[in-house]
Amino acid sequence: MSTITGRDTADAAAGLAALARDLYLRGWMPGTSGNLSVRLAGADTDTALITSSGVGKGELTAGHMVVVGAESGETVLAPDGLRASAETSIHSAIYRATQAGAVIHVHAPYSTVVACRAGDRSHRTTLALTHFELLKGLGLADPSRAGVPVFPNWPAVPRIATEVADYLTKHPESAPGLLIVDHGITVWGEDLAQARNRLECFEAICQLLTLGAADLPALT
Ligand SMILES: [Zn+2]
Repeated sequence: MSTITGRDTADAAAGLAALARDLYLRGWMPGTSGNLSVRLAGADTDTALITSSGVGKGELTAGHMVVVGAESGETVLAPDGLRASAETSIHSAIYRATQAGAVIHVHAPYSTVVACRAGDRSHRTTLALTHFELLKGLGLADPSRAGVPVFPNWPAVPRIATEVADYLTKHPESAPGLLIVDHGITVWGEDLAQARNRLECFEAICQLLTLGAADLPALT
């Protein structure tokens, strides 16, 4: 397939590459891990731009992005030799179930610690967060509390995606983030900047939890 063109798309690609570099330098996207996407505004079809699979996040450039169907996850346009992220189906599940304009998935250390401690490897749990001032950074209707789902890390990614879509459809009040046991965190927002800010708040809350600020209540 050919290269990606269009000013809006080029701007989105540059934004994804810059954020990937930033998150890599923070240690939240080690190696080739993690993936970012943004819904393409004004597109004729409902598409999203997502980071490609298998490229080190410290080396990712604007030329390493793939256009996919936002809600289908099917590849629409990919530069030669590139494939969409292996976890595209999770991004698509979020685009189907929410109003998200951007999705960020990283292996940030404190979020991953909390995912391991609050989750279960055989069924979904929900992490109940209360009191933290940082909850105000998540855009919740009620910022005094947040329920964050923690999903098993099924080897088949589409199985995770199906569970994510089912949960978010049934819980529209859910916080704009989810955890996957042994794996990491995924956060979304109306655009990449909002998603990044929310990710920073989630990771900071998980840092406080890991340092012992509160117990980890896991509700099945
Ligand atoms: Zn991952």
